[in-house]
Amino acid sequence: MEGLRLVFLGPPGAGKGTQAAKLQESFGIVKISTGDILREAVSLGTTLGEVAKLYMDRGELVPDDIIIGLVREKIVNLRDFTLDGFPRNVNQAEGLDRLLEVLGKKLTHVFYFEVSDAEVKRRLLARRVCPKCNKVYNMITDPPSKDEICDICKISLVTRADDNEETVENRLKVYYEQTLPLLEYYEERGTITRIDGNKMPDEVYHNLLEVLKI
Ligand SMILES: [Zn+2]
Repeated sequence: MEGLRLVFLGPPGAGKGTQAAKLQESFGIVKISTGDILREAVSLGTTLGEVAKLYMDRGELVPDDIIIGLVREKIVNLRDFTLDGFPRNVNQAEGLDRLLEVLGKKLTHVFYFEVSDAEVKRRLLARRVCPKCNKVYNMITDPPSKDEICDICKISLVTRADDNEETVENRLKVYYEQTLPLLEYYEERGTITRIDGNKMPDEVYHNLLEVLKI
């Protein structure tokens, strides 16, 4: 298998994380999300992690160049990876391209998970979280084995305050404002593949494997 360097784009609730996790499990393609690498860098106390923490403690967004530095640390020695939900805007996409050029790597595929607004809303409103271990479930796409009870802690799941209809609509609006220019960016470079994310996870996965020829 040739190296696979993937980007997954798509609205919240599109199933990007689920699909990236499946690829990691089956093919060792490392799933990288900026949320995870931020948390990791902060807990390890790396230089970039310390800087990122200053912004996070003030409740501010971590600047793009710091995020890109963290992505660099993560991908520099990896052959296969999926960037899950990164880049988020054109500035980050340009930074990623410069970084890859320096590393002598190239993205092999950019996938855009298309999901209707109604489906995104339905999925986000079905999201539940364990108040103890913070594990996230989805009553539609990834339910616990017993209804609304955490598999690990055996206690009742709760709905996050920001998973309500009004907030979800606002998050979608913000998402599309940032993402449409990003789609154009990759479309101009001819690297984007659209995936129908409205389908069930197994079918979406099957479609992905077809495109990746693995
Ligand atoms: Zn739990």
